Amino acid sequence: MLRITNLVKRYGPGRPAVDGVSLNVAPGDICGFIGRNGAGKTTTIRSVVGALPFDEGEIVIDGASVRTDSMHTKEVTAYVPDDPELYGFLTGEQYIRFVMDMWRVPEKERGRAGELAERFSLTNDLPTLISAYSHGMKQKLAIIAALSHRPKLLVLDEPFVGLDPIAAHTFKELMGELCREGGAVFFSTHVLETAEKLCNRVAVIRQGRIVASGDIDRVRGDQSLEDVFLELTEHDA
Ligand code: ATP
Repeated sequence: MLRITNLVKRYGPGRPAVDGVSLNVAPGDICGFIGRNGAGKTTTIRSVVGALPFDEGEIVIDGASVRTDSMHTKEVTAYVPDDPELYGFLTGEQYIRFVMDMWRVPEKERGRAGELAERFSLTNDLPTLISAYSHGMKQKLAIIAALSHRPKLLVLDEPFVGLDPIAAHTFKELMGELCREGGAVFFSTHVLETAEKLCNRVAVIRQGRIVASGDIDRVRGDQSLEDVFLELTEHDA
């Protein structure tokens, strides 16, 4: 579903922020992307979703290149950044309608957004202006909008920050449902327990380079993910 090959991104002279990253996320995978602050997670993620031009390498989503067929890759991908910028002058309802119009979601499938709002207990807030939403409410709305057009690949930067435990639980269920329907999820997180419980795959990035990736059980061996992470990144301090 997502294949990154030798991705290089430089912001300026010196060592690239992302330096030859390769990884695969197959249909049905939930892949956690972990690394210390500044390791290159957001840079990789923004390159994947076409929000950031990259210098070298290839990113393929659902068989199409992000560079040469971005129409297709954007159509099948949903992206929720860590601090979604939503239009404060719209209500939640208007924003969801705007996103579904953009994605040309057929009328008969538009009930999906309402069901998602119910599951996130956001239904009563949908007529309210987004400018009056809390951070967590904005996060929920961004997730509802992202899932409303039934993406094949869901890409998220720190998706659980700001979500209350019930919303986080709901979102984990939704990720599982997407994957059972043949989709895939790729997300960054600093919460290793979440990655450990939720993901079947994991990639660890250190100073722009992947230092471990694959099935979580194989990466972890008989240790906790935290132990593995500390070992892999201990010389960075
Ligand atoms: P965090 O966990 O703190 O969010 P991250 O793993 O997402 O970190 P990135 O944001 O991808 O890390 O940053 C990787 C490197 O690229 C860092 O050294 C950062 O300073 C640098 N960087 C990121 N964005 C820019 C930018 N717009 N201009 C210059 N350098 C940047």
